[in-house]
Amino acid sequence: MLIRIAVIICFAPFILKSQVNSKCGFRMSATELQNHYARVQSLGTLLPHDTCLNRELSLVFHIVLDSMGQPGVTIADIDACVNRLNVVWKPICISFKRCSLNYVPNYNYNEWHDIYDEPTFAGNYYVDNTIDVVLVENIVLPKKAAGYADPMGHIVMKKNSLAGVVPIHEMGHLFGLPHTFEGPAPNAASTELVKRTNCYTDGDGFCDTEADPHPTGEVSGAHCSFQPGPKDAANDYYTPPLDNYMTYFSGCECRFTQEQYNFMALTFILGGTQLH
Ligand SMILES: [Zn+2]
Repeated sequence: MLIRIAVIICFAPFILKSQVNSKCGFRMSATELQNHYARVQSLGTLLPHDTCLNRELSLVFHIVLDSMGQPGVTIADIDACVNRLNVVWKPICISFKRCSLNYVPNYNYNEWHDIYDEPTFAGNYYVDNTIDVVLVENIVLPKKAAGYADPMGHIVMKKNSLAGVVPIHEMGHLFGLPHTFEGPAPNAASTELVKRTNCYTDGDGFCDTEADPHPTGEVSGAHCSFQPGPKDAANDYYTPPLDNYMTYFSGCECRFTQEQYNFMALTFILGGTQLH
């Protein structure tokens, strides 16, 4: 059932028009990666089962106004985003509700620097027991990010990313998912093999996501941007998960796999995040 729903979602036209070259500021440290692999392996027998949580989560949107006091996004834009999240998380019976909108008058936050702006913003605006989504015009740090998330329940995102796959990708991080190319070493290419013999200790730690060699094979600006040809260490050609929400090969992201879905559900159940 889960797989059938995911396939249907794949043909949703709004998802196919994703934002090309949108990168994310989420990174896992070496320790976090090892903890992630250990957690996936400990859940191994649970991951194949469908999970239905029947929970509704509250979203608080913080919209930073520009210097003219304009929000730059409409309530309809935000509700369309929430609706897309609801479609994608439906297989594990999680839904999202726009709890409130908060218009932030300090336009300086529109040039967002994570290390400088997070402390003051958090103290003034974040709401306990909700998922905070901060919408800004530009993210200066982390560099070139369209958005990023932390497991404490916060997402920061560019306003012009609201309509693409970025909200889904960042929400995936919030539920504990790494990038499909993430490990085993931070900021280095994945060494997961195409045959996936090392899939629980390399890459994203999931065995039903294909080995992802990003950035090898990327064609900037191209739809489904992978250029076939690169091989892994065992001389097998990569066929990366171009359609997965957690890849960086941009343009055709439209699904999570069963292991990703169930890992998100178990992350929620086991309290690995501040999600409520
Ligand atoms: Zn990301």
